[in-house]
Amino acid sequence: MEWGSVGLGAFLGIALTVGLLALAVYPLVRRSFLLWAALRALCFAIMSVALFPVALTSPTLGGEFRTDIGEIALSIAIGSTGPFLAAYIENRPRFARIRYWLRTLFIVGVVGAIATALAPLWPGFDLVHDLLLLTMILGMTAGLTAAVRSGSRFAQYQAVGYAPLIILGLLVLAYELSTGAPVPYWPVAALLAVLVDFMVTAGGVINGYLTVKRERDEAWADVSEARIAVATDPLTEIANRRGLALRFRDPAHPRPAALAVIDCDHFKRINDMFGHDTGDEVLIAVAEGLKQENVFPARQGGEEFVVLIYGEDYQRLAETVRRQITLSVLEKVPEVPFPVTASAGLTEVRPNDTLDSAVKRGDEALYAAKDAGRDQLLLWQDGKHSQPRLVHRV
Ligand code: GH3
Ligand code: MG
Ligand code: MG
Repeated sequence: MEWGSVGLGAFLGIALTVGLLALAVYPLVRRSFLLWAALRALCFAIMSVALFPVALTSPTLGGEFRTDIGEIALSIAIGSTGPFLAAYIENRPRFARIRYWLRTLFIVGVVGAIATALAPLWPGFDLVHDLLLLTMILGMTAGLTAAVRSGSRFAQYQAVGYAPLIILGLLVLAYELSTGAPVPYWPVAALLAVLVDFMVTAGGVINGYLTVKRERDEAWADVSEARIAVATDPLTEIANRRGLALRFRDPAHPRPAALAVIDCDHFKRINDMFGHDTGDEVLIAVAEGLKQENVFPARQGGEEFVVLIYGEDYQRLAETVRRQITLSVLEKVPEVPFPVTASAGLTEVRPNDTLDSAVKRGDEALYAAKDAGRDQLLLWQDGKHSQPRLVHRV
């Protein structure tokens, strides 16, 4: 008696833990198998209280009534195993039919529960209930087997947990249907089998959670990788036009003081003399030269770059960046024997500027620099283009 109560208490504790675990994980991953797992745990808990011989020896709850409640709970518990599995196994198109059949098992479970509830009206319903239980166990076994054979690793795992319950269920039903009497001590055996099921299901819930979490983390990593990729120029690995636009309007960064449009001089000649690959190396070296403190470099396209410049000293910084291009190419691409120069147009960024309106002025100043003989920086000021302060022609 005492040990029976302890056993029942332990079983209830485990059932409620499994159910609560599934419910606690649900808000994190929102997968329906967790709700089915919680329903199963609750039904098995109700079943154990109702069917276990030492439980609730209250005079108001007659043995018949308790057995009925236990069998109703058992029907729903076994029936909800179908949708649990359907939601739990891998989401692959080839499992679609298996999933459909597994879901219908729940309807069989509900019909079985109704048959039990109606048993007092007509004893034949007891037989109907047993037959429906048998149908569910066979259906679940078939669904599980089909899923395992189609390559579901989750189904394989779950099959181990269900094996004792399935074997016991078949034995008990075979005995009951052939002799008409219940197998002695079957509730105890059922609780032990359900315990094995719970252990595996709890592991499955945790495994399902970890899998979903891993998939989600991977998807997020892919998204942020893709975000970086679409904003980056693949050759020079600095920002591209989109990256520049994102940075310009990013509230996390201060507004730049100025913007310079920079274009390599006579770049076509480099390609023509040394080949396209060397041209590419020169572009990479140019981008390296643009990487200075308080400067955000971007490749606008071809051999044209745009830099955002921060701080008051932007005129000097723009000229430093422009000259750095020549030094960087000399150092990194020694096979080009002459200095590669660049022309640049600089403009202040006004409070009401869009990126395009600022680039437009920078472009104008750049064309003026090209017209003035290249290899120089010109500052756009009120529609005129002048040499910036503090800087002189190289
Ligand atoms: P200017 O001083 O007037 O700017 O003369 P330029 O030769 O630099 O200008 P132009 O626009 O005539 O030629 C630009 C060249 O840049 C032409 C094109 O083949 C080359 N180019 C554009 N994109 C790439 C690239 O990704 N790699 C290489 N190697 N060359 C490129
Ligand atoms: Mg050019
Ligand atoms: Mg150009």
